[in-house]
Amino acid sequence: MKFLKKGKFKILEKLQEILGKEKVLLEEEELLSYSYDASSLIRKPLAVILPEKKEEVVEVLKWIKKHQIPLTPRGSGTSTTGSALAHSAGIILCLSKMNRILELDEEERVVRVEPGVINGELKSYLKKFRLFYPPDPASMNFSTIGGNVATGAGGPRGLKYGTTKDYVLALEVVLPGGEILKTGPTTLKGVVPYNLTPIFIGSEGTLGVFTEIFLKVLPLPEKRVLFLSFHSLEEEPLELLSQMLKRGLTPASSEFVDKTSLKALVQIQKVKELLPLDSLTKALFFVEFDGTHLEIKDLVPKIERFYFEKGIRVIKAEKEEEIESLWEIRRTLAPALKVLGSLKIADDVVVPRKFMKVFLTEIRKLEKESKLPIVCFGHAGDGNFHVNLLFEEEKKEIAKEVREKILKKVLELSGTISGEHGLGYTKRTYINWELSSLQIEIMKKIKKIFDPDNLLNPWVKLPD
Ligand SMILES: Cc1cc2nc3c(=O)[nH]c(=O)nc-3n(C[C@H](O)[C@H](O)[C@H](O)COP(=O)(O)OP(=O)(O)OC[C@H]3O[C@@H](n4cnc5c(N)ncnc54)[C@H](O)[C@@H]3O)c2cc1C
Repeated sequence: MKFLKKGKFKILEKLQEILGKEKVLLEEEELLSYSYDASSLIRKPLAVILPEKKEEVVEVLKWIKKHQIPLTPRGSGTSTTGSALAHSAGIILCLSKMNRILELDEEERVVRVEPGVINGELKSYLKKFRLFYPPDPASMNFSTIGGNVATGAGGPRGLKYGTTKDYVLALEVVLPGGEILKTGPTTLKGVVPYNLTPIFIGSEGTLGVFTEIFLKVLPLPEKRVLFLSFHSLEEEPLELLSQMLKRGLTPASSEFVDKTSLKALVQIQKVKELLPLDSLTKALFFVEFDGTHLEIKDLVPKIERFYFEKGIRVIKAEKEEEIESLWEIRRTLAPALKVLGSLKIADDVVVPRKFMKVFLTEIRKLEKESKLPIVCFGHAGDGNFHVNLLFEEEKKEIAKEVREKILKKVLELSGTISGEHGLGYTKRTYINWELSSLQIEIMKKIKKIFDPDNLLNPWVKLPD
């Protein structure tokens, strides 16, 4: 406890008195596991608070206002941008124990959850009622709904179903000082208030702490079918998607795996066993369709004919377990990349779909020039590429230069520098590359309304 000044330690002890010792972690070893997220940053917090109910969140937010201590809300800590970390002067409020599904209204098709519910667990729960929450980040088996809302998480299903922003009906948010704000009406439509809910989606913990989330859900599709195709030309899948859409074939999901990612994937034993990969394969394309039994029965021959006409090698999975084991390959991609370099700069950029091929060509040019592996995989359906630069310490400066060239190219192509992970700590210095000074000024004013003392995650999103 040496690092804590006496005064600070006393006020933290006070918090232990209010919440109970087991909910306020102060020991170095306990703090260590909250010093990381999925970025490469390490930041040890002053303390970690583990509330179990909203009243405790209210107490903590009163306390931070009184003592002017910064706070970072946190779910599972899978943020790739450092947005789930507190710096040495701040505390972490980890919502993972507030993980109850509070109410399902089957008739309205609305579910009310606490923020710590895991995305995949909500999906399993809803399945019992033949209902479905579509947003499916690759981290869905371990990321929380609160974190998904605060980052505006997306996933392969973005093309047909949209992302988190399309499902959040209303929020309960605790503000610094402990006030509780309820956004939205919770009815399926309503225009009485200014619509505040979207302001919190993608707010990266900078505006308030969600304690309840109202989500719209859909009927569970009766049937899914997954096509996984193998391409000897890397850009071919991007062209293929455009042709499918022109023919009126709209996949529920479409995921692109590029040639540099394949170099990492083929080193995984399970992938080698499942996929007939050869040295000619330069890209993979996952395309899933869903609908009623009848719709899928009608669609499958059309899709098969489409691939056949183009002479593309493809495998088809119709059983749930087969489909899931193929998707699992896609989900293991991010962690598998470690073999390409010990350090990583990970971006999640979006370009209009019509520019995806141009963008990929630029990436390969930069890869050749810099001699750094650059992976460029992701949610092709909404033009969202995960561009990761892999490198060793001595190439750090080159990697930064290449990254900046990539971000500039994205903006030149009318894209955005983050589609779903947010700016966090690692990317906030680039905010003025994309936004005008007026937009940034308005964002700062909005932040001041909800958080006048700049106590909520002050290290992320907005520039100093
Ligand atoms: C292997 C891997 C794959 C991934 N794939 C995807 C993907 O396909 N799509 C995608 O969008 N992302 C993806 N991500 C990124 C990450 O999983 C998402 O950003 C996710 O939404 C974060 O959820 P979390 O519970 O881990 O939140 P955390 O990482 O703990 O927090 C993320 C942000 O949310 C804020 N926050 C958390 N809870 C609350 C709350 N209750 N109130 C207010 N703010 C809160 C935090 O302050 C922080 O700013 C991936 C990450 C990994 C490691």
